[in-house]
Amino acid sequence: MARSALIFQRLADQLAEFERRGLRRSRLVRQSPQGPRIVVDGQECLAFCSNDYLGLANHPRIVEAAIEAASRIEAASRYGVGEGASHLLSGHSALHERLEAKLAEFMQMPRALLFSTGYQANIGGVTALAGPEDAIFSDALNHASLIDGVRLSRARVVRYPHADLGFLSGALAESSARTKLIVTDGIFSMDGDIAPLPALLDLCERHDAWLLVDDAHAFGVIGPEGRGSPAHFGLRSPRLIYVGTLGKAAGVAGAFVAGAAEVVETVLQRARTYIYTTAAPAMLAAAVETSLQLIREDEWRRERLRKLIATLRRELRGSQSALSSSDTPIQPLVLGENSEAVRASAALRERGILVPAIRPPTVPEGTARLRISLSAAHSEQDILRLAAALREVCQSGVVTQA
Ligand SMILES: *Cc1c(COP(=O)(O)O)cnc(C)c1O
Repeated sequence: MARSALIFQRLADQLAEFERRGLRRSRLVRQSPQGPRIVVDGQECLAFCSNDYLGLANHPRIVEAAIEAASRIEAASRYGVGEGASHLLSGHSALHERLEAKLAEFMQMPRALLFSTGYQANIGGVTALAGPEDAIFSDALNHASLIDGVRLSRARVVRYPHADLGFLSGALAESSARTKLIVTDGIFSMDGDIAPLPALLDLCERHDAWLLVDDAHAFGVIGPEGRGSPAHFGLRSPRLIYVGTLGKAAGVAGAFVAGAAEVVETVLQRARTYIYTTAAPAMLAAAVETSLQLIREDEWRRERLRKLIATLRRELRGSQSALSSSDTPIQPLVLGENSEAVRASAALRERGILVPAIRPPTVPEGTARLRISLSAAHSEQDILRLAAALREVCQSGVVTQA
């Protein structure tokens, strides 16, 4: 008993330390669908905290597609809820198969492979393509799932300073690794800037390397028809390995890896996060298929988003609450200290507005921030209300900006 008391004490100390450093995280309990207004603890709030960039998370046609696929009267096209096995056993349905074909066609890439989450897709993609004899070149601000994939691969890692092409070029030239893989977010999740993909692809050509782009925040959001950051730059290359996620702009859940046929087949054969996990429900594949159609057709959602981004930036220009430079729906307001970000978030919450405080280790030490994320489902009025509240919170001395 004395021994077990010690291990409990250690956890309690650790939790108290999180609290003391302003790093303790907590969850809001939402009693509504995701959207621009959500109900939290019985209170309706104006929300800027989801990645539902196109406002599709509660779209009636997508909801209907999921229900239909699960419960259709004709048994031949009814899939129920559970898949009961991994894709490689018997979890892969005709709906999954069809969605993979549609995703590949949409991305104008030879093949696509579905994963249950983006976290798994990144880990699976990276570990399938690079091993101990290889080298991975990873942007310092990459998402945690890429970082974990890199670690699990046991490849040699070069973590290059954010978007530092000179550094990266030198490191690639020096490397004698068998296979070289550059991994980067397309749109960086906590900063909203876009990776310099044309230059990265150029480096790949020169050094015979692969380029894996985690486009979680760009799929559906930028580029023609919402085809993401490579399409935004007009890039196509067999060296490109694309990871798109389906729980953000697409409004559902899941992810896919797309690329050359050999690449995708290798991921299918080797990725443990693909092989050893149950397939996501077929009803979600049906939902994504409908979502994909809306992503393609509803150009007005991306237009609206661009307009809202411009409005927010215009409203806050020159004020104390200066946003980082970003043209995407991710608009960070860096405050510095953890306590400042937490205080600002709380002050907005008191005004009925939800904006999350993002702290280390999600962002580097000393760069705690408010992460404002905009959605096509917001109105111009919503943005004006947010801007007014931000000005008030920053000017009232509730917080002081770094
Ligand atoms: C959200 C996110 C992921 C993980 O995707 P999930 O489908 O939520 O697991 C991967 N990369 C980035 C950059 C993300 O923001």
